Amino acid sequence: MKAKIPVQISCPVMKQNKDDFINVIRWGYDNNIYVAVEPVIFASYDHTGENLSNRLSLEEIGKVFDYELTEGYAETISNFAKEKEALKDDDPICSICRYSFCISVTGEVYPCVGWQSNVIGTLDNQNLSEIWKNSDKIKCLRKIKRKDFVKCVDCKDKGYCTVCMMSNSNENQDGDAFRINELYCNVAKLKHEKLTIYRNKSSGGGKN
Ligand code: SF4
Repeated sequence: MKAKIPVQISCPVMKQNKDDFINVIRWGYDNNIYVAVEPVIFASYDHTGENLSNRLSLEEIGKVFDYELTEGYAETISNFAKEKEALKDDDPICSICRYSFCISVTGEVYPCVGWQSNVIGTLDNQNLSEIWKNSDKIKCLRKIKRKDFVKCVDCKDKGYCTVCMMSNSNENQDGDAFRINELYCNVAKLKHEKLTIYRNKSSGGGKN
């Protein structure tokens, strides 16, 4: 911060910190650091789901949204929703392999930090530039558009949801990146509803 580099804290909320994370938000306010709160942790990338006992229930996730709204996040949530709703069907679903990919210490290359089961190349037999330009898996990933998620195209909650191939894949034992866990849809619906109720209350019952 002294060097004027923008700083953000990412704060996943789990069973262990669901009653305390609010202190991180307040610490962020006091220190002028934005705290991004994420109440739905990803399933582990080995597809076992062994970390999901730490994930909040839908009811607990709703309480996190309530906290966020009372702590001043309504405008941010609303602005993100407008940006997502404005995306076109032909827009790429994700930035993976268009601007970045990840490399493990052992030289395996994968699309993003949470998708380490999806190896798209290895530095054992190719250099970075060759993988970036020639990997067939990368070429496929770059072609995936929003419209490939048919259920999401006209979804009324799409502004409150991040459709994510990595989180879908990790959620499914067979690694299917297109099969969406119902929980994600329920969370998006809940967030949308809570924001609408909050804004209606704030405006004295008018439209949001
Ligand atoms: S809420 Fe479900 S259907 Fe709607 S955009 Fe998100 S993942 Fe797709």
